Amino acid sequence: MADPKGFLTTSREEWPRRPAEERIRDWDEVYVPGGLLPIVGAQADRCMDCGIPFCHEACPLGNLIPDWNDLVARSDWRAASERLHATNNFPEFTGRLCPAPCEAGCVLAINQPAVTIKNVECAIADRAWEEGFTPPQPPDRLSGKTVAVIGSGPAGLAAAQQLSRAGHTVVVFERDDRIGGLLRYGIPAFKMEKRHLERRIGQMRAEGTKFRTSTVAGRDVGAAELRGRYDAVVIATGATAWRELDVPGRKLAGIHQAMEYLPLANRVCEGDLEHSPLSAEGKHVVIVGGGDTGADCLGTAVRERAASVTQLDIYAQPGADRDEDVEPWPVYPRLYRLSAAHEEARDLGSAPAADADARLFAASTLRFTGDDDGHVRSLHLVGVDAGRRPLPGTERSLPADLVLLALGFSGPGRDDGLVAGLGLELEPRGTIARDREFATGAPGVFAAGDAARGQSLVVWAIAEGRAVAAAVDRHLSGGHTRLPAPVGPYDRPMRV
Ligand SMILES: Cc1cc2nc3c(=O)[nH]c(=O)nc-3n(C[C@H](O)[C@H](O)[C@H](O)COP(=O)(O)OP(=O)(O)OC[C@H]3O[C@@H](n4cnc5c(N)ncnc54)[C@H](O)[C@@H]3O)c2cc1C
Ligand code: SF4
Repeated sequence: MADPKGFLTTSREEWPRRPAEERIRDWDEVYVPGGLLPIVGAQADRCMDCGIPFCHEACPLGNLIPDWNDLVARSDWRAASERLHATNNFPEFTGRLCPAPCEAGCVLAINQPAVTIKNVECAIADRAWEEGFTPPQPPDRLSGKTVAVIGSGPAGLAAAQQLSRAGHTVVVFERDDRIGGLLRYGIPAFKMEKRHLERRIGQMRAEGTKFRTSTVAGRDVGAAELRGRYDAVVIATGATAWRELDVPGRKLAGIHQAMEYLPLANRVCEGDLEHSPLSAEGKHVVIVGGGDTGADCLGTAVRERAASVTQLDIYAQPGADRDEDVEPWPVYPRLYRLSAAHEEARDLGSAPAADADARLFAASTLRFTGDDDGHVRSLHLVGVDAGRRPLPGTERSLPADLVLLALGFSGPGRDDGLVAGLGLELEPRGTIARDREFATGAPGVFAAGDAARGQSLVVWAIAEGRAVAAAVDRHLSGGHTRLPAPVGPYDRPMRV
């Protein structure tokens, strides 16, 4: 650390967001452009270089956080970029999207606000691109081995980049028309503009990775062809089988899954559509589900000029501070967090019926009712206790012309014939079974990311991609690899 007293003299300060009234008029990222660089050096200097950095442990990538905090505090951006890219293929993604379990594990967070690790990561990544510290790294020589990666989300992309750099000839198959998985069609542009994705794809092409979009593995390229033409196959097809809400009225028109709604808004931003056919414009919107996907629907509906937007969360409103008895440091606690979308809804008064920002907590949906045309018009709910038991006298209704279900994902979605074609085994919850080496029962076939882990986070997907690449490289080169494996297939986030 450049200043050993930095944590005593400097308070935590985050990358400022643009005013809500301004940012809901566009789809750009919510942050003030150029607002991070002036503050980030002093913020990095709050790192105590504590000796036993739990942030390493809490980050699935094992990012070398104290090292790069020190380098940023000393303005050595090139070295900081080298250290950061040593463990993370796509730090500009995690620097924007990660919920930052590292900050929950920061030793300073025991009695002070944590170091703004995620912001420092983002600043290094952005600066690295601006300064040209991240040129393509094509391999010196080719191994002569070929690998098919199925799925171009963060897990598939990380695996492909590691394997291409190790000298293997890698083809990424993607059933969508563009590369990126949920980073492309799912996560809204106001959380991460797609130009960051394009830039990495350009880098990967220059390193030799080939991409085949609009190609459904299992159908357009069959399982036998994959096994026959490639020395190894990595399945990284994600987990987007959505959960249903089985209550009366569910079949009414105007009730959709979040992942039916969000990709259409992404397509408007991509210029494929002028208007989303499910646009929230002028509608009373209710989002069922209190998680991050629900918050993405909220921010999208606000930008589409909804008449009102309310988000229902079945859990009680969490406290603002960690309960040390229940979720002690360094685990990632459930806290009341104000995402950018919630801040917008609060500032603009988008949810007149809500308890806090746009959310109604401890609320369970009972049924939907509609008009004579079979279109939803109201959502009926009841307050619940911690055991989700209805509380008498708490029934109420909300106007609802558009209902978005954001109840999480139970496992891999549409299979496209890969599982049967390759003879893969599934775990009881539907994820692809694999051993300690990320290998499925089919010879030369590996599985990584949400498809095998279940619905998770971008940081875990990148970590899985790096780890499966190490396993594939070992398989292809007769037991040796120099590629790092930050996680094992059975590793899980730190819990109580
Ligand atoms: C709306 C939403 C918002 C999220 N926001 C965040 C966030 O802010 N931060 C965070 O950390 N995490 C977030 N997540 C979770 C995160 O996006 C995922 O954990 C991560 O993308 C998983 O990566 P993956 O590569 O395993 O799968 P995916 O990103 O799902 O990619 C899988 C890809 O495989 C392709 N595919 C599937 N089958 C085939 C086939 N047969 N042939 C060819 N291609 C195929 C799919 O089209 C898809 O492109 C969010 C998730 C959702 C749904
Ligand atoms: S990837 Fe996530 S957990 Fe790791 S250092 Fe970055 S913000 Fe923290």
